[in-house]
Formats: sequence, structure tokens, C-alpha cells
Amino acid sequence: MEEEKKATAAKAEEKKAPAKKAPAKKAEPAEAKKPSAAALKAALAQMEEQETGKKKNTVLWRVLAFVMWALAIVAMYLPQIGDWELPFGAMRMLVLKNYTAMIIDLVVAVALCIGAALLWKKANHIHPVKSHNKIVQFIWNQLGLIMAFLIFFVIGLALILKNDKLDQKTKRIAIAALAVLTLLVGGASADYHPVTQDEVDKVTQEFNIDIQDPDGCFWTTYGRKYHLYDDCQALSNTSAENLHHTSLNEAWENNRGELCSFCAKRASDSGATDTTAITPAE
Ligand SMILES: [Zn+2]
Repeated sequence: MEEEKKATAAKAEEKKAPAKKAPAKKAEPAEAKKPSAAALKAALAQMEEQETGKKKNTVLWRVLAFVMWALAIVAMYLPQIGDWELPFGAMRMLVLKNYTAMIIDLVVAVALCIGAALLWKKANHIHPVKSHNKIVQFIWNQLGLIMAFLIFFVIGLALILKNDKLDQKTKRIAIAALAVLTLLVGGASADYHPVTQDEVDKVTQEFNIDIQDPDGCFWTTYGRKYHLYDDCQALSNTSAENLHHTSLNEAWENNRGELCSFCAKRASDSGATDTTAITPAE
């Protein structure tokens, strides 16, 4: 027991040595260094593409997304074509009172729309929007949400209001149903972790700094953040076997993308000589 403790202490001591060199180098980007997990993932994916020379075909995914959105419109609103008795077009099926076909069409349209949005988001999370314009960024990142609103609500509402074969009560129910579908599909299609190429570039820049930085960083088995100093107060209860000393890149790959706020503050207090104030009194 006693020996084990000694070994742990020795290990901790070993780890402390390189940490002392870290502060000066990491001092300036400390405050800005809070990239989102999505930006980190995109940066890693792009670095991998550069290293392997194999690009993910996100253009194909985007084209597929548009095909699926178009098919969703067909499933929802295909009009009568000649004498064909096509069972597609949920709105037409409603008029014909063919409810089974209508429900199948609705389910297909919902699935197509959500699938398209997932593909679109997947593409965005590898090759994000390049524009610096906030409006363009929003439209690009939330295209799934916008399409859900257009397909299920805007087009649907216009067609229902124009339709003279539906009675008022049916129209009201149909509009309510469209509103529900819009919320459902929109909720599944929105990107809750949008990324821009600007954010990814920032991460990549920091990564390039890290390549030349032998000091790396610290993170723990159970913690979600990474640290610049192994004597950070947040690490005071961490045993040596749960403390990992790796490169920043490796920390990111292990989903430790966010810098600990104590370490950020300490690094930003330039030079980081005044550590007594933030080290715990043991
Ligand atoms: Zn820390």
C-alpha cells in the first residue's frame, strides 16, 4: 500500500517536470482556444483528407440530399398526371379519400426529408460553409430546417388554401397536420452544432502550433476538458493512472476538445508566475 503510494507520487513527479515549460508558449491563444467539438471533428477530418489524399465526396451527398428533397415534394404533392392512377401525392390522396396511400406518402416524405437533412449535415461537418456572411452561414447550415418548413408548411398551406375540393373542416385538420409534420421534420433536420470553415481554420492553425510543441497537455480518464498544467486545481484529486499526458491533437481525438477554465486563466495571466493564488492549499 505504502509502496504503491510512493510509486504514484513518483509518477506524478515525473509528469510535473515537462509541465513547467508549457505556460510561456501557450500564453497568447488561451482565451480564444475554445473550439466546438464539431469544429474539432471537421478539422481532424480535413487533416486526414490532406494526409491520405482521399477526399470525402461531400458534393455527392449534397446532390443526393437535393434529390431526396425533390422526391419528398413528389410524395407530398404529385398532381394527377393524365389518366395514371399513381398512388403518390399525399394531398391528392386526401382529396380522393385514399387514406392508406396518404399515410404511406406522408411517412415516405418525412423519411426522405430527414434523410436529406442528415446527409446535408454530414457534408457540412466535414466541409463546412466557407462564406463569412452570417446570413449565408445560417441558410447553409440550417438548410434542412428551411427545406422542412418550405416543403411541409409553405407549399402545403398554399395548395390547401387553393384547393376547392376540400371542405373547411378537412382543410383545418390538414393544416394542423402539416404544422405538426413541420415541427417534427424541422426538429430532426436542424443543425444544433453548426460549423463554419473559419472555425475549422482556427483549429487547424492551433494544431499546426501543437505539432512543434513537445509539451502537449493533460487530461483525465473521467474529465471532459484538457489542461495545460498537471498541477491544475481541477486535477488535484486525480490519481496518476487516470492522468494522461499527450499531444493536444491526441487529446482532441479523445474528445477532450475544451480547455479547462482554470488553465486558460492561468495561461492568460501572462508568464503564469503567480500560481499560488489558484493552486489549492494542500
Ligand atoms: Zn486545468
